[in-house]
Amino acid sequence: MTSEARATRVRIAPSPTGALHLGTARTALYNYLYARKNGGAFIFRLEDTDNERSNEKYTEDIIEGLKWLGITWDEGPDIGGPYPPYRQTEKIDHYESMANKLLASGFAYLCYATPDELASMKEEQKAKNESIRYDNRYRNLSQDEKEKFEKEGRIPSIRFRIEEPQKIKWHDAIKGQIEVSSSDLGGDMIIVKSNGVATYNFAVVIDDIDMQMSLVLRGEDHIHNTAKQLLIFEALGETPPHYGHTALMFDTEKRKLSKRRHGESVHIAKYREDGYMPEALVNYLAQMSWTPENGKEIFTLEEACQWFDIKKVSKSPAVFDIDKLNWFNAHYIRSLPIETVVERAMPYLADFDLSSYSQDSIKDMIELLRESLVKLADIKDSAAFFFGDTVPVEQEVKDSVLTAAEAKTVLEALRANISKIPFTDPKGAKAVVDELGKELGLKGKNLYWPVRVALSGKTQGPDLGSIICILGEKRVACRLEAALGLCKTT
Ligand code: GLU
Repeated sequence: MTSEARATRVRIAPSPTGALHLGTARTALYNYLYARKNGGAFIFRLEDTDNERSNEKYTEDIIEGLKWLGITWDEGPDIGGPYPPYRQTEKIDHYESMANKLLASGFAYLCYATPDELASMKEEQKAKNESIRYDNRYRNLSQDEKEKFEKEGRIPSIRFRIEEPQKIKWHDAIKGQIEVSSSDLGGDMIIVKSNGVATYNFAVVIDDIDMQMSLVLRGEDHIHNTAKQLLIFEALGETPPHYGHTALMFDTEKRKLSKRRHGESVHIAKYREDGYMPEALVNYLAQMSWTPENGKEIFTLEEACQWFDIKKVSKSPAVFDIDKLNWFNAHYIRSLPIETVVERAMPYLADFDLSSYSQDSIKDMIELLRESLVKLADIKDSAAFFFGDTVPVEQEVKDSVLTAAEAKTVLEALRANISKIPFTDPKGAKAVVDELGKELGLKGKNLYWPVRVALSGKTQGPDLGSIICILGEKRVACRLEAALGLCKTT
């Protein structure tokens, strides 16, 4: 079957050797969008053959992270599917038998190079400033030579022949025509290591055959791998899928995003912890290298599924700009249904004693504060003044605001008129303050700052009427009293 005639089947194939990376999440997202747009299947499978580095905690992190983003799959290690298994460690024998086919047909051979031998080959090449490659030295061993190595106890790996020179060409779904010279592929490649485990480039081909992939969409760091993989498909007499390579992600200083340089901020879990909205991350990652035909910048995952067009995915490097992500996040915090935001914000309020507030007041509080949040974790600071009997006031603010003569006048007047404040009506509550201002001949910061500082400890903040209503009569009275105390003693 030609790959054109295949049903749409795409995949993400992460290695559980680290937490879910932004780049992997973006690749998963583009594959997911492609599958949904084309009515196809999106497959999740695990490349977990690296025993030393693979860890189940990373598998969980990757699965949870993708699900959190709203990316779901139709087949995978957790849900099964028609082409199991979806973990490479469960297919070791199968890879070996496929490698044996290539041995039998002469496309592969047993290589007896020892690790020391390979290391010194590398050193010599380095010393001569040559590119590092296997020199194909054991390609054509006689039976006697093989037996001699076997007797020495050498355990062979299986290498695939890469004939040179030749051009490996394909039409890339994103980059257009691509051509790679086989001389740039590092010599004959190992497909099964001496410990019997298949290498990435081999196992991935077998999986893509087994699972009938129609398109492989992944980062452009895989271009040389694609060239190698195409040779394996050919040797096995199989039609390869189409390929598409997305540009890699860089920071605003044009440096590749890496754990080493950027720490935890390359991981989805970090954003989850800090209270980023999955809707914001998905929107941000999706539009990073693709803009819908209608030019919209803000869109949901469902809309992206309808609008996604692989032909419009950009070839230029993707830039991860935290300020832009923050802009998306603030937008979603402000515009998602308040119930959603309340539910997600609650864990960040866990350190406060919420028992003195009704659920409605907490909701009002979050609704008020969300206007200025960049990420939900920030609510910890911005909500702090609502809790506790008193609010801390910085000395500087105390000196500049509460010592002014007007401060005492305003706060005393408000205390005397507290019964006039409608505590369920923020506009009405603010109007009481305004009215007092008129009576006292005070306005602007002379009027509002003392009240704000008394109630919240700060001169700036969210709507004053709402603050008054959420705090409620008792707390307002208490705070006015405390601030007046500060007025008197200063
Ligand atoms: N495990 C590989 C990676 O995460 C998969 C690459 C591929 O999609 O073939 O880069």
